[in-house]
Amino acid sequence: MEAKACNILITGANRGLGLEMVRQLAAKSCPGCQIFAGCRDPGAPKSQDLRELAKKHPGLIHVVQIDISDLRSITDCAKKVGPLLGKGGLNMLVNNAGVAHLVSMKDITAKDMEESFKTNLLGPMMMTKEFLPYLQVAAKACGKPGMSCSKAAVINISTVGGSMAKSHEMFDMFPVIPYRISKAGLNMLTVCNALEFKEDGILFVALHPGWVQTDMGGKNADLSAQESVQGMLRVMKSLTEKQNGAFLDYRGDVMPF
Ligand code: NDP
Repeated sequence: MEAKACNILITGANRGLGLEMVRQLAAKSCPGCQIFAGCRDPGAPKSQDLRELAKKHPGLIHVVQIDISDLRSITDCAKKVGPLLGKGGLNMLVNNAGVAHLVSMKDITAKDMEESFKTNLLGPMMMTKEFLPYLQVAAKACGKPGMSCSKAAVINISTVGGSMAKSHEMFDMFPVIPYRISKAGLNMLTVCNALEFKEDGILFVALHPGWVQTDMGGKNADLSAQESVQGMLRVMKSLTEKQNGAFLDYRGDVMPF
C-alpha cells in the first residue's frame, strides 16, 4: 500500500481503530498519497486528535465529514472527495465506523436494531455503492491483473461477534443482538460484493480486528489499537484475489462465517 501513490478513505477516523489506522498509514505513506479521514463531527472535541494529526500532514490527510447513518451525508461526501481523487480513483475504502448497542433480547427495542443496521450495515453498503465508480477507476488505472489493496479494495471492519459459527462459544459473554446481527449482515454483504464485482478487479474482505482497547472494546481488551492496526495493515498488504470475499482476523487467520 505504501509502495506507490494511493488514495484511501477510512470512516470513523476520529478515534479508536480508525484514528490509529490513519496514523500508521500516514507514517508509511509515499508522495502523492491521500488519506481521506471520515468523521461525523470534525469540529467536536472528540475529533481533536484527528485534527492535530491532519495538521502535521498537510496535503496527505484530508478530514472529511461523513455520518454513515445519513444517506445524504454519504452522497455529499462522495461529491466532495470524488474530484480530489483524480485519475487514480479510490484504491481502498475502509468501512471502519461502527456502533455496539449493549442490549440483549430481553431489553432490545426496534430503535436499537434500526440504529445498528443503519451504521453497521446500511452505512458500509451505501459508502461502497457511492464510491464504487472511483474504485472501478482505480482498478482500471492499475492496468495489471489480480487484486490487492493498492489496486482497488473495500475492507469491511467486522467482528467475530458476527460469526454464526462462533456464536455458541461466546454468546454468554457478549449477548449483543443488534451488533451481532448487523455485523453478520456486513459479512454477507462482503461475500455478495466480492462475487458481483469480481470482474472489475475490486477486492472485498471482512476483517476482525481482535478484542481491542478502544471506547468500544474497553480497557480490559487483549490488544492495544496500535497492535491491532499493525496486524490489520500487515494482512491488508498481503491480500490477493485468493482472499476475495474472505473473513479474516488481524493475524490473517481465516474466520468462519
Ligand atoms: P470506537 O467506539 O472506539 O470508535 C467508533 C468510531 O466509529 C468513532 O470514530 C465513531 O465516531 C464512528 N462512528 C460511529 N457511528 C458513526 C456514524 N454514524 N458515522 C460516522 N462515524 C461513526 O470503536 P472501535 O474503534 O473499537 O471500532 C472500530 C470498528 O471495529 C467498528 O466497526 C467495530 O465494530 C469493530 N470492532 C471493534 C472491536 C474492539 O474490540 N474494539 C472488536 C471487533 C470489531 P464518533 O466519535 O462520532 O462517535
